[in-house]
Amino acid sequence: MAETSRGAGDRMPGGAAAAEIRRLLQDLDETRVGEEMRALITELFPICRSITGAGLRQSLRIVGRVVPLAVTEVPSGTAVFDWVVPREWNIRGAWVKGPSGEIVIDFQRSNLHVLNYSSPFRGRLGLEELKPHLHSLPERPSLVPYRTSYYKESWGFCVSHDQLEALEPGEYEVLVDSSLEDGSLTYAEHLVQGATEDEILVSCHCCHPSLCNDNLSGVALTATLARVVGALRPRYSYRFLFLPGTIGSITWLARNEAQALRIRHGLVVACVGDRGPMTYKRSRRGDAEIDHAVEHVLGHSGQRFSVRDFSPYGYDERQYCSPGFDLAVGSLTRTPHGEYPEYHTSGDDLSFVENAALVESLRRYLEVFEVLEGNGTYLNLSPKCEPQLGKRGLYDALGGRSHAMETQMAMLWVLNLSDGRHTLLAIAEKAKLPFHAVREAAVALEAKNLLRREPG
Ligand code: ZN
Repeated sequence: MAETSRGAGDRMPGGAAAAEIRRLLQDLDETRVGEEMRALITELFPICRSITGAGLRQSLRIVGRVVPLAVTEVPSGTAVFDWVVPREWNIRGAWVKGPSGEIVIDFQRSNLHVLNYSSPFRGRLGLEELKPHLHSLPERPSLVPYRTSYYKESWGFCVSHDQLEALEPGEYEVLVDSSLEDGSLTYAEHLVQGATEDEILVSCHCCHPSLCNDNLSGVALTATLARVVGALRPRYSYRFLFLPGTIGSITWLARNEAQALRIRHGLVVACVGDRGPMTYKRSRRGDAEIDHAVEHVLGHSGQRFSVRDFSPYGYDERQYCSPGFDLAVGSLTRTPHGEYPEYHTSGDDLSFVENAALVESLRRYLEVFEVLEGNGTYLNLSPKCEPQLGKRGLYDALGGRSHAMETQMAMLWVLNLSDGRHTLLAIAEKAKLPFHAVREAAVALEAKNLLRREPG
C-alpha cells in the first residue's frame, strides 16, 4: 500500500541503526539540510491548501520529490468513524471591489484573504452587509488572520483590522470563485521497512495554506526525516504520514485499524521552525517509552525545553490518543500552537521560520529515533562482583581522554543494572548520562562477552 523506500531490511544486531544515526548526527551538514528544508517550505508556501482539493494534491506531489509517497484518495461522503469525508473544495480566485471599482481584497495577493472552504458567492452589497463576512484580528491590527469554515457552509474574507477600519462606506462587489463538490480527500504516506513490523509513526498535517511554522515546517521536517531514515537499516519500520488535520488522521485510522496496532511509538510533528524552545506533549499514557525517550533527549540537549501532559486538544495526537486507540504518540514541537503571536496569521511567513531552528528540531527527532532504535535490555554475564575492565582493554575501548570518566561510569552502570529488568534508557536516566554513552558501553561490553542482549 504505502510507498516503500527499501525492501525488507536486513536483520541488524540490536542498536545498529542507533550507531548509524549517531554518525549521521556527527557528520550532519547543517547548512545544506537547513537550506533544503527552507527550499521545500518556500516552494510550498504560495499554494492554497485545505483539507481537500487541488492545492493539497499539488503540495503532496512536491513533497513526493523529496521522498516517494503513496497517495490515497478517499471519496467525499465516505463514513470514517463518527465523521464523513467532506465535499472537495477548490478555488480559482476571489476578490472584493470597493465603491470606486478597484480591487481592495485579493486572493491572488495572499490565499489567507479567503475564508478557507468558503462557498462560492457573487454579488453586490453595502459595507454593513459585507462586514459580517470579513474576519480580522483587532488585537493584532496589522496581521491577516487564517480562518476556516470546513463544516459550516459560509463565505468570507480575512483582512487586517487596519484595512477593515479603513474601508469606505458604499457598495462593494464580491466574487468567490470556488467550488464545493463531490470529490475526494487526499493523504499520503511513506513507509521505511525495517527489520521488524513494529512501527514508529511520524505524522504531520499539511492542510494549511500560506503558513510556515504551523504546517510547512512540520511537512519539511517529516519529509527530511523520511529521506534520512530511508538510508538507514532500522530495526523499526517507520510510517510517515502527510494528512489534512483531524479529518485526515481520522480517515487514516478508520482505514488502517489493524495497521495502527503495529504502532509502538509515534510523534506528531508541527511548529518546528520558530525560535522558541522545544516543547514535548506526552502521549495519553504519559509513561510510554516514547515519553521517556523524548524527555531524555531534551534533558541532554543543552537547550531550554518544556514538557507537558497530554490534553485532548492540539493536533492529530488527539485522534491517535483517543481511548479506542490509545497509541503511544506524543507531539514534539517548538512553541506550541496558539502560543506565539504570529500563530494562524500572515505573520507566520517565511521570515518567521529559521533554518537553525529547523535543523535543531531535526537533530532532536533523530536523537529520539537513536534512543528507540538502540534501546533494549541486557543481562550481565559476570554478575558476581565487578568484572575487571582493564585486563579486557575496555578502558581504552571508547572515546578520547575527555570522555574516559563518562565511559567508565557508563560501563559500571550498565554492568550493575543489566539484570534483565532495566532498559538502556532506564540505565541512562539513573546514571544521568546521555543515551549514546550508555549504548556504546553496552556494545563494548557485549563484544567482550560480559553482556548479552535479551530478545525483544
Ligand atoms: Zn493550525
